[in-house]
Amino acid sequence: MASTMIESTDLLIVGCGPAGGVAAREAASRGMRVVVLEKDAVVGSKRVCAAGLRPGFCDEFDLPESLIHCNTPRLALFDPFGEEHAVRFGPGHTSTREELDGAIAALAVEAGAEIRTGALFRDLAVDGDRKIVDYVETTLGVRRRIRARHVFLAAGSTAKLERLPQFAFSGWSSGLMTTLQQRWYLARPAMPLAYETLELHYYPARDGRLVVAWMFPKRDHLAIGLGITGKVPGAELRAELDTFADRTIRRLAPGVEARVKLEGHLLYGGMPRPNVGAEGVSVGGTAAGLVDATNGEGIYEAATSGRMLADLAWRYRGDAARASAAYARALHDRFYARLARRVKLIDFLGRRPERFRLLFRQFAAVPRFAELVANERFDRTWADRLFLYTQAARFGARSLLA
Ligand SMILES: Cc1cc2nc3c(=O)[nH]c(=O)nc-3n(C[C@H](O)[C@H](O)[C@H](O)COP(=O)(O)OP(=O)(O)OC[C@H]3O[C@@H](n4cnc5c(N)ncnc54)[C@H](O)[C@@H]3O)c2cc1C
Repeated sequence: MASTMIESTDLLIVGCGPAGGVAAREAASRGMRVVVLEKDAVVGSKRVCAAGLRPGFCDEFDLPESLIHCNTPRLALFDPFGEEHAVRFGPGHTSTREELDGAIAALAVEAGAEIRTGALFRDLAVDGDRKIVDYVETTLGVRRRIRARHVFLAAGSTAKLERLPQFAFSGWSSGLMTTLQQRWYLARPAMPLAYETLELHYYPARDGRLVVAWMFPKRDHLAIGLGITGKVPGAELRAELDTFADRTIRRLAPGVEARVKLEGHLLYGGMPRPNVGAEGVSVGGTAAGLVDATNGEGIYEAATSGRMLADLAWRYRGDAARASAAYARALHDRFYARLARRVKLIDFLGRRPERFRLLFRQFAAVPRFAELVANERFDRTWADRLFLYTQAARFGARSLLA
């Protein structure tokens, strides 16, 4: 009797980042009843991210170009010796997560999705075809329940899935990185090249662990941050970032006064979660481990996972177990091989600083190699593949000798 009183929906989504937001928009636009639970009061307001977007992102996800802060056709890779290697690729973009997540959420609402903010997901019980989700309405401190046919868990790197045995992954915590970022709101613009460039820096931290650091330009600020694998004490991380930011600002905006905002969050940079779909429940975005370990890119992967979920939940709307199984297979085919290779690559590079230099020099000298590695394309010709493998073999042989 009690269960008939529970509110119900076709698709319940946890988290309104790019994964949850895109899933909500695309499922709602097909006519599904969609409810999104988002713990923050304002979608995107607390996301810590450099918000670099790959070329064509807005077009691919039908988002307004006004989200784009800077077009960045230049990627500057800095090796552990401080040498800069410039690579050109299609115009990448930068944005902010306040704007990106906010825009996707607004379009999801326009399509008919309901987004409940201040709604903290607590628990999920699966009983055959019934999924009962528990959450807390944080402004009132009231616990609520909702029944859903399909559930999409997209709560990012802090997702607590270990309580759900079907998705537990013992390697998860070893893939977590601690990140810290400063937003530099400059009184005067930095040098013009800064606004055309995404900078990525790789070097050992004081304790020898690999630091991946960045400078991504925005309309009104420079985002300067870094990530280190594992847990790092706050003071150590702040000291590491202060040194890096100081070096970067002296190069790009010497003597310019600035207001600086500090923010930090966890990032995942390990292997994708082995199981991401079972019994009508699917896991997407960073919660599924879909982040490129070499550069921290995960927005594209998250948004794509949301799109795949919406498509399959709609196609198998009467059979949620089939939808989640098909989603897990599709996600695996689409991303796992590349993301696993990226984890192995960063591990290989991180063992010897010279390897970064060799690879980046090869990227700069052979732009087609850099482009083939950077652009995840499914329409690679055999000639592309042969070229890529030859270049990769060349790098492998040289780096083993280094
Ligand atoms: C410092 C940093 C820099 C980055 N830079 C880039 C970059 O330049 N380019 C790029 O592509 N990627 C970048 N990433 C990675 C990118 O942020 C993630 O891959 C992306 O946000 C994943 O999207 P998502 O939808 O899976 O999760 P998220 O964006 O993390 O969204 C998850 C949502 O779930 C909500 N949530 C969490 N727990 C609960 C709960 N219990 N109940 C309800 N809601 C909940 C959160 O509030 C959040 O809104 C960066 C990450 C970090 C940390």
